[in-house]
Amino acid sequence: MANEINEDLCRLCASNEGIKMNIFEPEKNFIAKINFVLSIVIAKHDHLPKMLCHKCVFKVEEYCEFRQLCLSTDKFFRSKLPWPDDSSQQGTFLFQTCPVTLARGGAEKKN
Ligand SMILES: [Zn+2]
Repeated sequence: MANEINEDLCRLCASNEGIKMNIFEPEKNFIAKINFVLSIVIAKHDHLPKMLCHKCVFKVEEYCEFRQLCLSTDKFFRSKLPWPDDSSQQGTFLFQTCPVTLARGGAEKKN
């Protein structure tokens, strides 16, 4: 049984130390938070550890807050730009509505 995984280990750091919580604890919303900050797929029936150590719980919460802060900050700065913030066109809208492009295109020559 050398390949058997100890299901009491922390799913994120493999630690067996300290207080652990069930990763599917409904009130904690760990799965959504982990999906938000990590590219790890966690499924109820994946036969992998279902516990989180207290250190990883803290980090996941902290990273979530940090990511949310960065996204909000980015949104705030973008809202200050002179062109409309249309997230559906992210990556391309700069070229379509850039003031320099508009001026060159003659859209303001009417005045
Ligand atoms: Zn851990």
